[in-house]
Amino acid sequence: MPLDEYRRKRDFTKSPEPKGKVQKARRPAKAPARFFCVQKHLASHLHYDFRLEHNGTLLSWAVPKGPSLDPKIKRLAMHVEDHPIEYGTFEGVIPEGYGAGIVMLWDRGTWEPETDDVDAALKKGDLKFTLDGFKLKGSWVLVRTRGYARRSERDRRQGPDPRPSDGRSWLLIKHKDEWSGDLDIAEFAPLSVKSELDFHEILAEDTPAVWRTNRPVEGGETGAMLRDIIEKAAALKAAKAAAPKAAKAAALKTAKAAAPKAQRSRVKQPARRTKR
Ligand code: MN
Repeated sequence: MPLDEYRRKRDFTKSPEPKGKVQKARRPAKAPARFFCVQKHLASHLHYDFRLEHNGTLLSWAVPKGPSLDPKIKRLAMHVEDHPIEYGTFEGVIPEGYGAGIVMLWDRGTWEPETDDVDAALKKGDLKFTLDGFKLKGSWVLVRTRGYARRSERDRRQGPDPRPSDGRSWLLIKHKDEWSGDLDIAEFAPLSVKSELDFHEILAEDTPAVWRTNRPVEGGETGAMLRDIIEKAAALKAAKAAAPKAAKAAALKTAKAAAPKAQRSRVKQPARRTKR
């Protein structure tokens, strides 16, 4: 079953994520457009989950650095388990278990394969497609690689690769077109296309209290980011409770003071790319 792995990893009594069902392929004669989305997911590591509707589920890749609009930049995309279609609009807090963290719907729209046979393209490891989202548009390709671990000289001397490719490493690459460019889209348009909220605001809508006592063990950069987000969420929530009307302004002020400059603009959709 396509969603077995998805369900096996999750406890739906504890996670708000949809259990999902495989939908009948919605491809009648006049086929509705295929759905795609990108979910920014702050879990043990920040990453972007790139999902394409195909045969009733969402084909999924985890992209650690997020999509790049620059054709010269190839982004690692780890092929992960199919997700249910309903997952594509999910945004919220996964309090514990698999993927515990915050999910933001970072982009959504429709996609078209640039081939007649998607299954054959997937099997071959070379899927070209066109996106029509709020942030991502134009022509892209996903190419399977022989593994992402570039080994050092020392590692190579120590014998065969202990982590041979399991076929899950792909690269997500933008093709050169009117939608490509050197704008850092993740930085330029960091917010949700569903709620226009940032991570700490999504968390504030939920229950930061849970996170103070029961958050995933984190270290390093992700841990610092998470602590910062939890603090901002708590400040937002406290301000809201104290004075519902002035809350947003006060909390935003706090958040802004702590946020890097590039994150301040509430851009829902970037301007049209400049031609390269
Ligand atoms: Mn994820």
